[in-house]
Amino acid sequence: MNSIMLVDERERLLLAPYAMRSADSAGRVYPEPLHAYRGPFQRDRDRILHSSAFRRLSGKMQVFTGEMGDYHRTRLTHTHEVASIARTIGRALRLNEDLIEALALMHDIGHPPYGHAGEDALNESARDFGGFSHNRFGLTIVQEIEFRFTQFPGLNLTRDVLDGQTARIDKRGDRPRPLLEVQLVDAADSVTYDAHDTDDAIKLGLVSLEQMKRLGLISECLQFVENNYTGLSEELLRQAVVHRLIERQVTSLLEYCASRLQEFDFDSVEEAIQSPFLVEPDDELREMKQELEAFLYQHVYRHPHLVQIRNRAQDKLKEMFRAFCRNPDLFPPKYRRRAAKVGVERMAVEYNAGMTDHFCEQVYQQLTEAGGGQ
Ligand code: MG
Repeated sequence: MNSIMLVDERERLLLAPYAMRSADSAGRVYPEPLHAYRGPFQRDRDRILHSSAFRRLSGKMQVFTGEMGDYHRTRLTHTHEVASIARTIGRALRLNEDLIEALALMHDIGHPPYGHAGEDALNESARDFGGFSHNRFGLTIVQEIEFRFTQFPGLNLTRDVLDGQTARIDKRGDRPRPLLEVQLVDAADSVTYDAHDTDDAIKLGLVSLEQMKRLGLISECLQFVENNYTGLSEELLRQAVVHRLIERQVTSLLEYCASRLQEFDFDSVEEAIQSPFLVEPDDELREMKQELEAFLYQHVYRHPHLVQIRNRAQDKLKEMFRAFCRNPDLFPPKYRRRAAKVGVERMAVEYNAGMTDHFCEQVYQQLTEAGGGQ
């Protein structure tokens, strides 16, 4: 045991003054003794990793559905890519990697089936009952729905991780800035989806690299690849460009933030979050990312094939919502208890939101066969 460098000592040696320390954690709602060798944020990460909502991310679509093949990202592989990119940048900036990992693994845990289409459908169904947001539902899952301890509901995560997720719900400027670790996970999310949605969309044939060459960021990455490699097959060329797309964004974000942090020379976390500093790309990269995202929105997320899938999924979710509201006996028993507490409509939204795409499909079939889904 003596050979293990304890968390506080390790963080004192490795972390920058603007990084969140485990020793400064605001603690848990239900106090627990400290673990012998895992810090509080490591435990949060482990609790999230072992939750059933986390495992279900493997059955939830990111942008493309399971029927479209098995190359593209699911919500789970997206989450791991975000965690990996955020940790890379976080380590280089000497931020708290354990906290970053916990936040990254949690960031999409509240996503319903069928991605943002599912979210929009549930939000519309629940319009008169408080609406639905995947970020808010992520908090509900870890605070109320997951079951791990007999003494209290939820995962009992640290307040720091809960606050980080809360900051995702409302990003307007009327609340204090979140920790740099929280800001970084958000920035890494954007780096990740810009790169993998490009990759998946080209691989699926929804758009071509040729078509995307007119975008500043893609043309720059393509130029780099062409300067460094010759004779690449179409497949390898796509992969090389996407690899460069990640590298370009990560390096630029890292260098820009590192130089700004050096200028600010913060002595503490408080100083950092009260200053105008943000973990964000420089103006040039931001503009190029906006151009790429506008293209993806128009040609990929709004592609007729995806719009069709989206409309079908939305109709199903809305129909299921109505069926559960009409007949709460359709809920499995443990959800009936929660329905008594939060109301049938909220329970219908939560039950739908917790489903994987495939399970949602199955339940929908059962409901329609039973005649409950009109
Ligand atoms: Mg995400």
